[in-house]
Amino acid sequence: MCGIVGYVGGGRDAKSVIIEGLRRLEYRGYDSAGVAVVADGRIECRKKAGKVADLEAEIAAHPLDASHLGIGHTRWATHGGPTDVNAHPHVVGGGKLAVVHNGIIENFASLRAELETKGYTFLSETDTEVAGALLFDVYVNQASQDLTRAMQLTAQRLEGAFTLLAIEVGQPDRIVAARWNSPLVIGVGEGENFLGSDVSGFIEFTRDAVEMDNGQIVTLTADGYSITTFDGASAEGKPFRVEWDVTAAEKGGYNSFMEKEIHDQPAAVRDTLYGRFNEEGRLTLDELRIDESVLRSVNKIIIVACGTAAYAGQVARYAIEHWCRIPTEVELAHEFRYRDPIVTEQTLVVAVSQSGETMDTLMAVRHAREQGAKVIAICNTVGSSIPREADAVLYTYAGPEIAVASTKAFISQIVAAYLLALYLAQVRGNKFTDEIRGIIEQLQEMPDKIASVLENADQVRELGQELANSKSVLFLGRHVGFPVALEGALKLKEVAYLHSEGFAAGELKHGPIALVEEGQPVFVIVPSKSSRHSLHAKVVSNIQEVRARGAVTIVIAEEGDEDVVQFANHIIRIPESPGLLQPLLATVPLQIFACAVAEARGLNVDQPRNLAKSVTVE
Ligand code: GLU
Repeated sequence: MCGIVGYVGGGRDAKSVIIEGLRRLEYRGYDSAGVAVVADGRIECRKKAGKVADLEAEIAAHPLDASHLGIGHTRWATHGGPTDVNAHPHVVGGGKLAVVHNGIIENFASLRAELETKGYTFLSETDTEVAGALLFDVYVNQASQDLTRAMQLTAQRLEGAFTLLAIEVGQPDRIVAARWNSPLVIGVGEGENFLGSDVSGFIEFTRDAVEMDNGQIVTLTADGYSITTFDGASAEGKPFRVEWDVTAAEKGGYNSFMEKEIHDQPAAVRDTLYGRFNEEGRLTLDELRIDESVLRSVNKIIIVACGTAAYAGQVARYAIEHWCRIPTEVELAHEFRYRDPIVTEQTLVVAVSQSGETMDTLMAVRHAREQGAKVIAICNTVGSSIPREADAVLYTYAGPEIAVASTKAFISQIVAAYLLALYLAQVRGNKFTDEIRGIIEQLQEMPDKIASVLENADQVRELGQELANSKSVLFLGRHVGFPVALEGALKLKEVAYLHSEGFAAGELKHGPIALVEEGQPVFVIVPSKSSRHSLHAKVVSNIQEVRARGAVTIVIAEEGDEDVVQFANHIIRIPESPGLLQPLLATVPLQIFACAVAEARGLNVDQPRNLAKSVTVE
């Protein structure tokens, strides 16, 4: 998720290089920062919740010795709140070994229990400290104090996503790092070498870089580096020369954070699905302060949210009602209180907010709790206000979202809400464990399917350029495709300032069809042919209706759906998926489209006018 820097050299002071790198990585978003160096045969560590500037103040107050080797980190909390203690690096083994980590160790709970039986104790709530303790245990007991070997053996035991860097006082000339489903790049200097989550971590010092593959381990010294696989076979990275300027490097080579975050979505979904089962194979929430018997007595769910998060709630409603058979409403958080809603102790309120600080949603949470309702939060920011005030939390592990217009948070909110629905179905006995497993397996296929939608991004971008001067754009969908249509229209308003409306396709003939004239672009989200209640056929009829009135139809349809071809001016293909999961795919082209239209209109996609990322006023 966030930022990692490593430095080993001769000529420079490690902490200055690392702080500089952490600053360059600040754009990734984070909640705490830290640095550890090896000096005079011991590890010295400083870390602080807050910004890199707070870390610098800490170092000024408690100076670090000069050193030629160190690691640094900016954390985006996933396991444990953003506190000084949970900040990285984590120093283990009685001060001998320090680690920093990006990602999520999915099996940390069982590893922690195993290490506790061996007498290990833990200071933090993080998954990272567990990985550090395991590494130390392996280093001492199985790897004959060879840090590279210890990392290989440890990496084989970790599940989830990790970039893990370690330094050890016994081998003070090296950093050893493993990469699995999280980013890591080597920077190659003269008599000094670097590690970074991306090249921004060392771009000041060298432009010669080596990309590491998943499943590789690097041992980095001042004179060079060697790479192996997790099982110790020698391996190679991919050298490249960084030609981007610093700003492009921050965006991973994309034109905007929005575009980058659209492409982050396969990883965001994968990470949101990590670590959701306990040892017995049952789904778990991140923090649960509600008795299961209370969840069994729930007779109504109200999802409260604003903007894009409310559309994620609208998608989730279909799944919750279908899987759990609990009546579910979706309410804009700012309308909720003033409607005098019927909220009782049997009402479950689900509050959805990327930042966890959305004031309207926070106020709705407070109102609901005053009425005796239980509140479950779906948020992307660990330790933020809404999760703190809620009775239970399910985090979306989308990583920080920088662009103001939400993309990966939306997709992850749907995934998290589906996990919540399945959790309720499990607790209430609506579904058997293997049925739940089956749906989870379908969800686990979605990252690859989203990646395949992204492969067609150029087609959608061209369409965006072609339609950039349209007067307005309409979006139609039915069932879960309806909130997707609303989200497509909102994205276009937000970033391209283009008038757009989303409609339930069935509503068309009750009014909106009057808007359709020659040349009017209309997006239509076509449900799977396998969907229930002949939804597919009805939407195909809707395409014909607008086409007959002169619309330019842009049809988002599954691969192999030939029924739409004759009525479509443009077809954007998405992979086949179960009906309820289709929003995770169908939304993606709409995001790319909005981004492309905005760019074609010369707008700042990441910071649209009048909008704020986190709306902390009512
Ligand atoms: N899971 C780790 C934590 O919560 C690492 C988070 C990150 O990638 O910054 O500390």
